[in-house]
Amino acid sequence: MSAIQIAVEGCGHGTLNAIYDSIARTCKISRLPLVDLLIIGGDFQAVRNLRDLNVMSCPPKYRVLGDFHEYYSGVRKAPMLTVFVGGNHEASSHLWELLYGGWVAPNIYYLGAASVMNFRGLRIGGLSGIYNGRDYARLRDERLPYFPSEIKSIYHVRQYDVFKLYQINEPVDVMISHDWPSGIEHHGDLNELLRRKSFFRSDIEKGELGSPPARSLLNKLKPRYWFSAHLHVKFAALVDHGNKVTNFLALDKCLPHRQFLQLLTIPVTKSKPGLSYDPEWLAITRVLNPYLHKHPSALNSDAFKEAIGPMIAEERRWVEENIVAKGKLDVPENFQITAPIHEGSLTAREDRLPESYVNTQTTAFCELLEIEDGTRFAPPGSEGKEEKYRSFVANGGGSYPRGGRGGGGRGGGGRGGRGMRGGGGGRGRR
Ligand SMILES: [Zn+2]
Repeated sequence: MSAIQIAVEGCGHGTLNAIYDSIARTCKISRLPLVDLLIIGGDFQAVRNLRDLNVMSCPPKYRVLGDFHEYYSGVRKAPMLTVFVGGNHEASSHLWELLYGGWVAPNIYYLGAASVMNFRGLRIGGLSGIYNGRDYARLRDERLPYFPSEIKSIYHVRQYDVFKLYQINEPVDVMISHDWPSGIEHHGDLNELLRRKSFFRSDIEKGELGSPPARSLLNKLKPRYWFSAHLHVKFAALVDHGNKVTNFLALDKCLPHRQFLQLLTIPVTKSKPGLSYDPEWLAITRVLNPYLHKHPSALNSDAFKEAIGPMIAEERRWVEENIVAKGKLDVPENFQITAPIHEGSLTAREDRLPESYVNTQTTAFCELLEIEDGTRFAPPGSEGKEEKYRSFVANGGGSYPRGGRGGGGRGGGGRGGRGMRGGGGGRGRR
């Protein structure tokens, strides 16, 4: 039995240099062994260049490049394996390219919309995004160029991904979600939480703090650890399931005097380095990938719920035979640059949205599993979208700075600024 050293960080918010520096400093001061794995609970902001900022949901004054682009371009390399889920302030089109998970930079792995991975015997699951009831049953139909409403909806958790995670039967050690599982505040020091964040009170009283699907997953999977971020406060809780216990920990974002980092030593049975795919998860993905672009009512029928167990068992045999036995479980180190790297001024203005890229990692993953690549599916209404978008912008819509104006105040000023405000995205706190 050996042990691994894990660092957990709340939100990332594009501050990788400061996070890695803090870890190095903490390990040195406390004379702890080096960290093997860093987990970041979302708002990672894998912003490759200035165009990526234009699909990140947040007020324009927060649209800063951050330091991820240095890791993307190869100027810096992550000093330890880093994994993360998506939050509600992300380079959304970049993460969409890696819907099933993948490297956003060498040594930095995005867990995808949902997934389970293995690291040295530790089974780690993740659910990206935040809950919003309005978009829960919605199909993943956002395609570039995103309308302002899509920049909001793209990070909302979908029922499909929760359903996938719900099919897991083998024990999970660590789960990561950006927003907190709902009701978790009642399993820790609620008074202290309210003392620090009194404005949570009304949501808590209405039972509206956090994500109901994340809570149902917590109750089903009963992982040893559950890490979250989003609300920018440290909060620990203990959920007693009767036989198992979940240690919940939420952390803040990386700023001076904030509680954003936690180091943990976890005993593990395997010492093989590197990240690997999870056979049960691959089997679930094989079964459910054909439903990715179907209305989730297809999953909810009693007949389907009855049939799915044997279907997963059958695909599990396929995975054992075609992936496990052939030694293909290790995640390949196949990061490749897609969007251009950032060059020039960090504060230059950029009017254009990102281009759409087919990520070769996604292609390779889908070929490995012999499934259709869901990121290439064109949903109804996506044809002719570029034209619709151009006329939307020409008619004063959106909040993007437009060519020639250079400006770009909040909400786009002038006529309308439709879409971005009002219909907002639930409780999207920064
Ligand atoms: Zn955040």
